Amino acid sequence: MLGVAVVAVATPVEASAARVCLRFDFTDESTPMSPGIGGRYDDASPVELMDIGGGTVVRDAGEEFGRNVPGDPWPLQRWLARMEAIDGGALWGWRPLDANGCTDEFDDRGASSIHVRYLPWGVWDTQQTQVIGYDCDLDTTPECQFQPRFAGQFLLEPSGDTNVLVSGNELTNPLDRVNLMMWAATFAQERLPLLPNQDVYMVNQGNESATSAVSYFAGGNLSAEFRGPSYARKFVVAHEFGHLVTALGPIPQIDPGMSADYCFNPAGPDFVPPACQHTLDSPEYSSAAMVEGFANFFAMAVWNDWGKSVATYNTNVVQGDWDFTSQQRAVDAACMASIMTPCGSGITNESDWHGALWALMNSPGGVGPDPATVVGLLAAADPWVVTGQTPAFWTNFSADAAAYFGDPGVTIVFLGLANAWGIDR
Ligand SMILES: [Zn+2]
Repeated sequence: MLGVAVVAVATPVEASAARVCLRFDFTDESTPMSPGIGGRYDDASPVELMDIGGGTVVRDAGEEFGRNVPGDPWPLQRWLARMEAIDGGALWGWRPLDANGCTDEFDDRGASSIHVRYLPWGVWDTQQTQVIGYDCDLDTTPECQFQPRFAGQFLLEPSGDTNVLVSGNELTNPLDRVNLMMWAATFAQERLPLLPNQDVYMVNQGNESATSAVSYFAGGNLSAEFRGPSYARKFVVAHEFGHLVTALGPIPQIDPGMSADYCFNPAGPDFVPPACQHTLDSPEYSSAAMVEGFANFFAMAVWNDWGKSVATYNTNVVQGDWDFTSQQRAVDAACMASIMTPCGSGITNESDWHGALWALMNSPGGVGPDPATVVGLLAAADPWVVTGQTPAFWTNFSADAAAYFGDPGVTIVFLGLANAWGIDR
């Protein structure tokens, strides 16, 4: 007769719903560059000394994001990830993690532990934006590396979230340099989603001793490239990402005049990109100081609370290295007195620009805690008039600003701040 023989089988493993969250490890303090809180990321706004125990006193990384936190709360926002059974079968992914760096709930098929893989690739479905991280070393190898990373094998929590710590120690794994760079970039895109409908390449370009970082179009895509230790400086990463957000993305054909008047050299012939050196307080043609000041402003907006009257911009943990605040004026109005006193027409500097822009958010009658409106001003003023040491740049920019704000009251506030900060020349 037909029948189904039911025989005793091993008790089936009970499947249940699992959720896994990937966190970035900032606790590594073994690297010599920046001992103290936050490992390689404590370059951010260290403005005060603080005792972190064990007789160690460091400066407080005083920005709101990354400050004095244990190493595990920073999510890999929107990064692609995959959860596998130990036999390699997919349980979840490849898919983007959510804003908290977590998967949604998935069936663990009775697994007690899983393999976790991820990619330095942030995906925002609703914004149609991707941020992709490459590790290149064109000095020694002809190719860039882009490959899934194995975070390790982890026990699944029987109930609740399983937290997976992703390494940020680029000494034990050079590819982690990309993690550091990507973390800051995807944090920026998540907090200030001003870059829709774009593919963005973040490129770690070897580990040369020289520090530099640039943003540009590469093959029609927005790219930011980091050499030396700049990948580990989150204000620098956000600054370069800020160039993509404020200028390269929204202005399809970047004003060629901007690079024509990029570097001003009061001592002789102008520097020519890419050899030109510019710093937060160097005298520059206003077109260059403006573009850099907007990128500084973006980085400040990523790492500071928008309602604060004073924001910080910092690139290095070493005391005195480029610690800037939004209230810090360059010496002698806008130019260093030893070079040029005062700045002539058409010459300003970056720190005065980002100071005026930050003040626009925090001054009565300004735009309020709204960095998007401030950032939009840059593209609205394009094309910029670049005519060397003449007032033509500001004449054009201020007229465009008035049209952009629409509200005469806001325009008056902006013009007053521009005068106070010395960018109206
Ligand atoms: Zn820049």
